[in-house]
Amino acid sequence: MNKKREESALKVNRGIEQPPAVNPYITNFYRNRKVRLLSDKEYLDGILKGDISILSRAITLVESQKEEHKEQAQRVVSLAIPHAVHSMRIGITGVPGVGKSTFVEAFGSIVTERGYKLAVLAIDPSSERSKGSILGDKTRMERLSVNPKAFIRPSPSGGSLGGVARKTRESIILCEAAGYNMIFIETVGVGQSETVVHSMTDLFLLLMLSGAGDELQGIKRGIMEMSDLISITKADGDNIDKAKLAQALYNNALRLFPPQESGWSPKALRTSAITGDGLELLLQEIESFFSLIEGNGYLHHKRGQQSKYWMYQTIQERLNALFFENQSIKSVIKEYEKMAVEGQITSYAAANALISKYIEQ
Ligand code: GDP
Repeated sequence: MNKKREESALKVNRGIEQPPAVNPYITNFYRNRKVRLLSDKEYLDGILKGDISILSRAITLVESQKEEHKEQAQRVVSLAIPHAVHSMRIGITGVPGVGKSTFVEAFGSIVTERGYKLAVLAIDPSSERSKGSILGDKTRMERLSVNPKAFIRPSPSGGSLGGVARKTRESIILCEAAGYNMIFIETVGVGQSETVVHSMTDLFLLLMLSGAGDELQGIKRGIMEMSDLISITKADGDNIDKAKLAQALYNNALRLFPPQESGWSPKALRTSAITGDGLELLLQEIESFFSLIEGNGYLHHKRGQQSKYWMYQTIQERLNALFFENQSIKSVIKEYEKMAVEGQITSYAAANALISKYIEQ
C-alpha cells in the first residue's frame, strides 16, 4: 500500500525547509510581548478624540476571544454608544474581481473630499485568510490607507459568521463614536455574508461586471432583490457600451421586483474607479436614499428591526454554544448520534432526550 502511494503521481513531496526567522530576537520580542490593555476611560477618551491607534486597539479588544477582554470590550462599547454619531452604514458586495478594492479606494477618496469621515470594515466569509481576500492586502488601498479622513480595518479572521457579525457591529459603534459618519462594510458576494452585511447596514450596494454572458455572475436573485443600488463597474474604455447595456438590463430587472418597504426605487448606475466617471452621481444617489429614509422614518424603523434581529440571533448563538459546550451533553451526544444513525431511536427522540438532559442538570 505504502509502496503504491510512493509511486503515485498524487504522493505528497517534501517541501523545502522553512528558512530560519529573519531575526529571532524580533520573533521572541513579539511572542513575549504583553499587550498592554488600557483602562475603559483611556479607550473611550482616545476613541472620542478620534485617535486612530486607540480605535484600532479597541477594535482588537472587541475581536479578542479571551473572556476578560470580552468583558472589557462590552463595557467600552456600552460607553461608546451614547457618543456614536449618526452615520450612513453602507454594505458593499460583489464577486472577486468585480473591482471592489479599486472602487472603495476611488469612491472613498471622493466621499472624504466631500467632507465625510469614512471607516471601511470588512466581513470575510472565508475562515482562512487567503490571498486576494477582501482588505487582506492593505496595499491595494494605498491612497485611502494614508488618508487622514479614512480608517481601514481588515476583517476579523476566524470564528463563526455570527461571531464575526457581532464584532463588526460593535466595531461600527466604535467607529461612529470616533466620529466616522460614513461606514462601508465590504464583503464578497459568494455566500451567506451578504445577508449578514445587509442586516447591519442601511444601504446595500451591489457591484456588478458588465459583459456578454456573465450577467448573472453567480449573484443570487435574492442578493439583487436586497440591493438599493447596483453599480456596473469598470465602465471605461472599450467597456462603456457593454456597461450601458448592462445598466439598462439591470434597471429593467429591478423594476420587476416588488416595491421596497423604504419607498426607494432601486436603480442601476455605472462607475469607473479608474476614470472616476459615475462616482459623483453615485454619491448623490446615496445621499438621496438617506434623505428619503431619514425623512419618512424608515431608517429609524430599520435600525430598530435590525437590533431586534440581532438580539434573537445572539440568543440563538449563545444557547447553541451553551448546549454544545456543556460537559454532560458532550459526554453522551455521540451515543445518541450513533443510535439515531443506526435507527434505534428517531432523530426527534434523540434531540429531545438530549435537551431534557440539559434542562434537568
Ligand atoms: P476585487 O477583487 O473585487 O477587490 O477587485 P479589484 O479591485 O482587485 O480589481 C480587479 C481588477 O479589475 C484589477 O485588475 C483592477 O485594476 C481592475 N479594475 C478595477 N476597477 C476598474 C475600473 O474601474 N476600470 C478598469 N478598466 N479596471 C478596473
